Amino acid sequence: MGVERTLVLIKPDGVIRGLCGNIISRFENIGLKIVAMKMIWVSKEMAERHYEEHVGKPFFVGLQKFITEGPVVAMVLEGIDAIEVVRKIVGPTEPKSASPGTIRGDFAHLSYSMADERGIAVKNIIHASANKKDAEREIGIWFSIDEIYKYENIYEKTL
Ligand code: ATP
Ligand code: MG
Repeated sequence: MGVERTLVLIKPDGVIRGLCGNIISRFENIGLKIVAMKMIWVSKEMAERHYEEHVGKPFFVGLQKFITEGPVVAMVLEGIDAIEVVRKIVGPTEPKSASPGTIRGDFAHLSYSMADERGIAVKNIIHASANKKDAEREIGIWFSIDEIYKYENIYEKTL
């Protein structure tokens, strides 16, 4: 338990559907602190770096196409156990299985089988780092040290 940082990406499907405000509000509402944020239209090479664990898997070509088909909003969120808490709010990978109340469950419904049948990635609105090691690696890909800010938010002031 402790203060952690995690990388969140609002993927191109979330951006073109105008969901950024709603998604960001969910993190702000529970007191997580935005310490870095920007919009980027990623290259195929950056997609490979970010999703290096998936390069070569059957869905990777579709995943690369998906994440590069429009701009993404990238942010670093900070808070106590932020990595686990953010994954809980995001919900499981497959929108069909994601519970209502989670971001993926509220804004998408498609399944792995539908995506696999069509040879596309399952479009699921958002990415969040899976663990501490991934979070550190991913934050280093998307942000330089001087793009990440230190300040105290109102929740910390009342802890
Ligand atoms: P993310 O890393 O984007 O936060 P995740 O950690 O929940 O998602 P991963 O297993 O890392 O899930 O998969 C990365 C992304 O690849 C998924 O978010 C989804 O868009 C796509 N994906 C994963 N598995 C499949 C699959 N079997 N078929 C189609 N697309 C898939
Ligand atoms: Mg992942």
